[in-house]
Amino acid sequence: MIKIIAYLGLGTMGSGMASNLLKAGYELTVWNRNAEKCEPFARKGAGVADTPADAVRDAELVMYCLSNDEAVEEVVFGAKGILSGIKEGQIAIDMSTVLPATSLREQEAYAKRGVDFLDAPVFGSKQESADAKLWIMAAGNKAMFEKVKPVLAHLGQTVHYLGKNGNAAAMKLVGNLIVALELEALSEGLVLAQKAGLDLNTVMEVVKVADFRSPLLVSIGQNILKRDFSPSFALKLMLKDADLIEKFAASLQSPIPAMRVVERNLGSAVDLGFGNENASALIKALEKPAGVEVKARRASRPTKTEHSD
Ligand code: NAP
Repeated sequence: MIKIIAYLGLGTMGSGMASNLLKAGYELTVWNRNAEKCEPFARKGAGVADTPADAVRDAELVMYCLSNDEAVEEVVFGAKGILSGIKEGQIAIDMSTVLPATSLREQEAYAKRGVDFLDAPVFGSKQESADAKLWIMAAGNKAMFEKVKPVLAHLGQTVHYLGKNGNAAAMKLVGNLIVALELEALSEGLVLAQKAGLDLNTVMEVVKVADFRSPLLVSIGQNILKRDFSPSFALKLMLKDADLIEKFAASLQSPIPAMRVVERNLGSAVDLGFGNENASALIKALEKPAGVEVKARRASRPTKTEHSD
């Protein structure tokens, strides 16, 4: 049974996961590029390492959730990176959203050192990470998956096994393609509703119950109406994912015409200066040419479904 874990990358997602590992009673060592983010964990009893190599030395399991492929490159392959500290028999799990090709490169490098590797990205955001309610996908050696599943179960509400390495990273990009298109659809719809003079609270009440409803559309739509763009999933990270989706789809010659439009709008919203806001700030790229701001005219009532029959 795994008892000693190293967690690297204490950003929006990683900090929630590392907290839940501590709560579950694992012996935890943390590392973060900006060392200040380690302090709350030290106060709760975690060890703090100066380098990724030091962090992983005594761990049975090494987990990390970093911004992008470049960050994985530095933290895994770089000087004093994980690969320079990890040893045969240890297990590594990358929970970042990266290209499947990057996961495969990691797997090869770890295998040369006798280390098992799983790619295990997640769905859910800041709140789901804090509440251990993530939707986790994992890929790699099945026996290793079974061994780490009890650990992952402390972080998420579901854990799916996707098969060979790279498949979970691929599933994450498939899911984020759908998320991006939902966000674009919601943004275009709300701008159109505003221009048509509809009551936006009523629009959201319909979105909440109609047959195209989704929890994502509801939570994001309600926050847009409140003009709350505080980041759970930063716009610049969604643009990063759009780029990954484009590269991945191109490598498989799979058409993504709508995703290209979303990527352009995400780029426009970042160019307007909203990269550090939530991904829902995508709507600002549409509001500008439309000459409107999508905002509720009244505070929303506690939702109640009204039938007209
Ligand atoms: P975040 O809050 O920006 O945190 C990113 C983490 O990566 C931080 O610990 C940061 O360190 C570290 N990092 C970035 N560049 C680095 C580098 N060059 N070297 C070392 N460390 C580096 O991002 P997040 O929202 O937690 O997202 C993390 C990953 O999960 C991303 O791949 C994202 O796409 C994915 N994801 C996010 C969400 C979400 O809703 N937020 C949901 C699902 C998946 P510093 O603190 O020093 O900057």
